[in-house]
Amino acid sequence: MKTHAQAVVIGGGLIGCSILYHLTRLGWTDVVLLERDELTSGSTWHAAAGIHGLHDHNNISRLQYYTMQLYEELEAETGQGCGIFQPGSLYLAQTADREHQLRMQAAKAKYFQVEFHELSRDEAERMHPLANFDGIRCIMYEPDGGNVDPSGVTHAYARGARQRGAEVHRFTPVIATTQRSDGGWDVETDKGTIHADVVVNAAGLWAREVAEMAGFELPLMPLEHQYFVTEAIPEIEALDFRLPLIADRDGEYYLRQEGQGLLVGAYEKDGRYWSEHGTPMDFGHELLDEDLERIEENVMRAFERIPVLTEAGIKRVINGPMIWAPDSSALIGPVPELKNYYCCCGIIPGFSQSGGLGLTMAQWIVEKEPEKDLFPWDLARFGDWATGDFTRARTLDQYSHRFKIHFPYEEREAGRPIKTRPVYEMQKQMGAVFGLSYGYEHPLWYAPEGVEPVETYGFERQNWFEPVAAECRALREAVGIIDVSNFAKYRISGAGAHDYLERLVANRVPTETGRSCLTPMIGLRGGIAGDFTITRLGDEDFLMIGSGIAERYHQRYFDMVERADSVRFESYTEAWGGFNIAGPRARDLLGELTDADLSNESFRFMRSRRIDVAGVEAVAIRVSFSGDLGWEIHFPIEHQVGVYQALLDQGEAYGARPVGGRALLSLRVEKGYGSWSREYSPEYWPQEVGLERLIKLDKPEFLGRDAYLKIKDNPPREKLVVVRVETDNADANGGEPVFLTDGTPVGRVSSGAYGHSVNASIALCFVKTEHAGAGTELDVAILGKPHRAVILEKPPFDAEGERLRA
Ligand SMILES: Cc1cc2nc3c(=O)[nH]c(=O)nc-3n(C[C@H](O)[C@H](O)[C@H](O)COP(=O)(O)OP(=O)(O)OC[C@H]3O[C@@H](n4cnc5c(N)ncnc54)[C@H](O)[C@@H]3O)c2cc1C
Repeated sequence: MKTHAQAVVIGGGLIGCSILYHLTRLGWTDVVLLERDELTSGSTWHAAAGIHGLHDHNNISRLQYYTMQLYEELEAETGQGCGIFQPGSLYLAQTADREHQLRMQAAKAKYFQVEFHELSRDEAERMHPLANFDGIRCIMYEPDGGNVDPSGVTHAYARGARQRGAEVHRFTPVIATTQRSDGGWDVETDKGTIHADVVVNAAGLWAREVAEMAGFELPLMPLEHQYFVTEAIPEIEALDFRLPLIADRDGEYYLRQEGQGLLVGAYEKDGRYWSEHGTPMDFGHELLDEDLERIEENVMRAFERIPVLTEAGIKRVINGPMIWAPDSSALIGPVPELKNYYCCCGIIPGFSQSGGLGLTMAQWIVEKEPEKDLFPWDLARFGDWATGDFTRARTLDQYSHRFKIHFPYEEREAGRPIKTRPVYEMQKQMGAVFGLSYGYEHPLWYAPEGVEPVETYGFERQNWFEPVAAECRALREAVGIIDVSNFAKYRISGAGAHDYLERLVANRVPTETGRSCLTPMIGLRGGIAGDFTITRLGDEDFLMIGSGIAERYHQRYFDMVERADSVRFESYTEAWGGFNIAGPRARDLLGELTDADLSNESFRFMRSRRIDVAGVEAVAIRVSFSGDLGWEIHFPIEHQVGVYQALLDQGEAYGARPVGGRALLSLRVEKGYGSWSREYSPEYWPQEVGLERLIKLDKPEFLGRDAYLKIKDNPPREKLVVVRVETDNADANGGEPVFLTDGTPVGRVSSGAYGHSVNASIALCFVKTEHAGAGTELDVAILGKPHRAVILEKPPFDAEGERLRA
């Protein structure tokens, strides 16, 4: 075994082998994979290995399509059979909501230019003569759907990697990983130690144990999962074609042909954790005790759909563990608190995603940033608030609702509350409905008196539509009090603080105390890695405010720029709370609680000052994400109740009311403001989202400057535009494909909401540049159906910013 490698991948399951393969494809050939046992010895060997392309998240769909196409290529390249069957999949809808979901997926498929289309019952019956389609409202067909051979695919990845120079060592458990002073890692096994520049934890069922070796925890929990395979079924033996898969998600089972029989798997309501406190090191090619009773209800539904199943004998039952993250998406990327340590763990549909995950990981390792924005997969979406209890509750909830429709704005209750801020009880008393915001309960909207503070879910407008309208109106007509404690806040101070920030962000950092700037942070491919407001509090003392969900994500970038020892970089996100007081009466309300001069002449837009608010010293910044006249005030969290009470008490006279996150979304969308992870991401170039004017190339140095120089003169591939949509019962919310009126796909929605002050449904969309001109008519697929839309010349609310500067 060699003693040095560019990268050591720990784990020879499907995912570790794909990462190894993709590393070699990107030119890293001095790489080693260490496997405890035989390849496939975790969840991989016993998987049902079904594959599909479409996903609710567009970039994940792209990577699933990449994976499905890769298998054939891999087989041809390596000579290793992958056991690919692609007879197609039939997706069935039993309810109106499922039909909406499938129609939306069909619209997205048109946008991706892949096949996913509706079939008549007759056509479906010809394809699957054993299925009973009674009670089915709509049938969609994905011709590429199918399954692969788990062992074949894993070995093909390993072989492809070896052919390019990688080494694979089986029966070589990693027993320790220790960071070296040069930033590399000593990866210890009983056959020797490898000094690796980079370590990748792809240890699947053992990812928790491997993470512990490096001193951190991953929010993962294994659960049992069962499927069974029947004996040969004469009706199948008589067919001269292979049956398509059946995705009857309302029935909560999956079903496909296996040999001359059928394979049926289920995600039961009564799921079971497995090895909660640690995966045994000696667990390998064993299965767990079968318990078909647990999945009986699901299986009965499969029997109704495929009557011949009732006659079929069961040949084998597979009960195996798979390991889940709290939202059932993968946990990938570099661990922000460690150097050169990457994870790719917690993967559920591994066979649909292995290629995309391997490619993304390899790009991240070799090119330092992946090509696609994959925040929904990024392990940094969870912080240390994702504790054991939360993970336990969430993973079971995810497992038992695996095939549930994910409605827009869905908030899951399981495992909550985790953390609350001091005003939580007050907000609750006022009817707040909360969502989970990076570990904290955060108000989404306030139920008026007589309305139960519980939200309903669906694709159409829900019970919060009117309450949110009232909040928006109150803010636009009088004044709203928005809790913005969920914004990420960083204090950067000490000698060299200004210099550090200048080298971190692309705009010029204020040199005068009391000034603020908006600035993008440029990623390593020249895109938008972050957007911040930086306020100069004093000499070498700055407050930087950014997206709350991205605190851990942004930490990676903050650490890429060297800081002098004298510079303190502290997170104030927990220690400080904040309110945004916004609307035409904001000055009057805030003026009641402070002696500070808030007049326009004395306190202009984008200026800040330390002022006393209700006796509490606060940093007041004249900005508002609502697009209205307003101030953000930030102050130590222990004063949150007092300040809130004072604002509410004094606010009564001005018609003030609390305003939640849903209203803020509507307000910022009608104002055309972008938000991180929706409109701003490393995938988008500044010239595509209108932020290029904030990039100061006369600064000699800032993060991503060279990368930006390379792309800055490229014409925008797409443009961020604001559109008005004709719709009366549902609004776009993000991800919906956008077409020309002749059906040509030209873009997608990034954010959408009803604009209550402009009385129109509004969406922010990325549209191919050649079609992004004002006045262009488009069709936005809402509920899977085209809704006419027009590109607006300017955002419909206060495009000139007169309200902001009033
Ligand atoms: C019953 C069942 C059915 C499934 N059906 C499907 C399906 O139809 N479609 C689909 O896409 N997915 C399916 N899956 C999920 C799929 O199996 C997983 O997504 C996939 O196998 C995950 O692969 P992995 O490489 O991440 O993990 P694993 O397969 O668990 O691999 C991890 C590897 O790391 C090795 N390892 C661990 N610790 C160490 C160490 N210290 N040193 C060295 N090596 C170590 C292990 O030995 C193991 O080989 C199913 C899973 C189950 C349980």
